[in-house]
Amino acid sequence: MGSLPFTTSDLYTSTGGFSSSPTLLCTPLMGTTVDQMLIEMHKAKEIGSDIVEIRLDCLRNFNPSSDLQILIKQSPLPTLVTYRPVWEGGQYEGDETKRQDALRSAMELGANYIDIELEVAHEFNNSIYEKKPDNFKVIVSSHNFHNTPSSEAIGNLVARIQATGADIVKIATTALDITDCARIFQITVHSQVPTIGIVMGERGLISRLLSPKFGGYLTYGALEAGAISAPGQPTARDLLDLYNFRLIRPDTKVYGIIGKPVGHSKSPLLFNAAFKSVGLNAVYVHFLVDDVEKFFNTYSSVDFSGCSCTIPHKEAALKCMDEIDSIAKKIGAINNIVRKPDGRLVAFNTDYIGSISGIEDELRGMNGAIPAGKSPLAGKLFVVLGAGGAGKSLVYGAAQKGARVVCANRTYERAKELADKVGGQAMTLEEVENFHPEEGMILANTTSVGMKPNVDDTPISKEALKHYCLVFDAIYTPKETRLLREAKETGAAVVYGTEMLIRQGFEQYKNFTGLPAPEELFRELMEKHA
Ligand code: NAP
Repeated sequence: MGSLPFTTSDLYTSTGGFSSSPTLLCTPLMGTTVDQMLIEMHKAKEIGSDIVEIRLDCLRNFNPSSDLQILIKQSPLPTLVTYRPVWEGGQYEGDETKRQDALRSAMELGANYIDIELEVAHEFNNSIYEKKPDNFKVIVSSHNFHNTPSSEAIGNLVARIQATGADIVKIATTALDITDCARIFQITVHSQVPTIGIVMGERGLISRLLSPKFGGYLTYGALEAGAISAPGQPTARDLLDLYNFRLIRPDTKVYGIIGKPVGHSKSPLLFNAAFKSVGLNAVYVHFLVDDVEKFFNTYSSVDFSGCSCTIPHKEAALKCMDEIDSIAKKIGAINNIVRKPDGRLVAFNTDYIGSISGIEDELRGMNGAIPAGKSPLAGKLFVVLGAGGAGKSLVYGAAQKGARVVCANRTYERAKELADKVGGQAMTLEEVENFHPEEGMILANTTSVGMKPNVDDTPISKEALKHYCLVFDAIYTPKETRLLREAKETGAAVVYGTEMLIRQGFEQYKNFTGLPAPEELFRELMEKHA
C-alpha cells in the first residue's frame, strides 16, 4: 500500500487538533467468567488504569440480563463495553441483533463507553439516537490486521467514522514497519474529534507508548504480559512504571534504543528512571527498527532527540549521520546518536569510553597518583583478544591513550587489519599463550568466548594470565566469567563487562541531556535488574 511522503517534522504537537485532556489508560478484561472479570477490574484499579474494557466476547456463558448489571455496577473504574464479533477480530460468532441489543443494554445500565465497529455503526448509532445518557460516549472502531494504509486512506477512514456520529474515533492498524506509526500520530495529533490511534504488532509499540504525546484519547495496557487483547500491547504496569506514561506530554522529548531485536534492552528502565529523578521532560522507548535510514527520515523532528544504537544497526546508521565523532569514525561503529536543535544528527561511540575509563580507574586505584592529564594506560602493553565491534572500541581506545596495542583474533586477517590501523601488532589467539615480552601487561577479552551458555570456556589459559596485572572482559553475561575468576586467582585486578555497559550508559546520558549521569541510580538499577 502506498503512502504519502510524511515525516514527523510535519507534526505540530503543541497546536492543532483535539487533545487537551491527558490520554487515558484502559485495561482490557479478558476473563472467561464474570467472577474472573470482577477480580481483574480490581487489579486494573490497583495498577493505576483509568478505565476497564469489558470484552463480552471473552465470556464463556454470557447472560446479558444478569451479567451486564453485575459487571457495570460493580466496576471500581469507568467501563468501556466491547462485544467484538469474529468478523472484526473478536470471538463473538452469534446473532448480530442480540449482540447490538447487549451493547444497548450496557449503555442503559450505565456503561461509560461502547465500542461499535464501523461496519454497523450507522445502524447502531441510529438506534440509540436521542437515548444516549449524559457522560456516555460511542467509540466507532475500525481494525486492519494486515497493514497501515497511506495517510490519505486513513484520513478517508476517519471521515467515514466521523460521519457515523461517533463521539470517539478508533483506528487500529497493523505495523509492518515502525514508521507506520507516524501516519497514525499524524491523525491523532490533528484530529478535531477525540481519537484513539493504535498500530498493532511489535513494530507498532511506540504508537501506544507515545499516545499522550500525539494527543491520543486512550491507550490500552494489559493486565499482565500474557493477557493481551491485541498484538503488541504493553502491560499497564510497563506503561506506568517503565515508560512514565503519566509524565508524557505533547512537548516531551523522545529518546530510545534502535535495534532488532530490541525488546530485551534494559536501557528504557535506566534512562526513564534517570529522567524522572531529575524531572526531565523526556521519555526513552524501544524502537524496533528494520531500516535505519527510513527510521531517521520519518522521525526527523527535533522532538525525536536521540537514540542508542545496537545490533544490527551500529554500522548501517553511520551513513545517516551529519557528523561523526572522530574515534567513532575510526572504529566504524556508533552506538549513540544525538539530534541537535538544528536537526543535525551527531553520532558517538561510547563503548570505547565505557571500557577504557573503567580500566583507567582500576589502574589509578592500583598505581596511585598519575600526573594530571596523563592516562595510566600510556606506555602500557595492552593485549586485546578479538577484532569485532567491541574489539575495535578497545583497540582504538587504548591506542588513543598511548598504550602499545596488540590485537589477537581467531581470524588473523581481521586482527592484522585492525592492528595496522593503530600501528599495533597482530597475532592469533594461540600465539597469545606464549606472548610475554614483559610482566604487568593488560588483557582485554572482546571475543564472545565464555559468554552464556558456554560459561566453562575461556579465551586464554590460566597459566598465561600470570603475566598480566589487569584483566578486563567485555562479556557481561555472566558477570564473573571463567576468565575473570582465573585472573583473580592469579592475583590480577579485574574489570567487569558490566562496568563497560554502565559507563557507556553514563556517556550516552551526558550526550543526550548535557547533564551529569545519575551514576548511583544507574548502578542500583543495574544491580537490581541484572
Ligand atoms: P562481534 O563483532 O561479533 O565480534 C566477535 C569476536 O569474537 C570476533 O573477534 C570473533 O572472532 C570472536 N569469536 C567469536 N567466537 C569465537 C570463538 N569460538 N573462538 C574465538 N573467537 C571467537 O561481537 P562484539 O559486538 O564485538 O561482541 C563481542 C563480545 O563483547 C560479546 O560477548 C558482547 O556481549 C560483548 N560486548 C560487551 C559490551 C559491554 O558493554 N560490556 C559491549 C559490546 C559487546 P572472528 O573475527 O574470528 O570471528
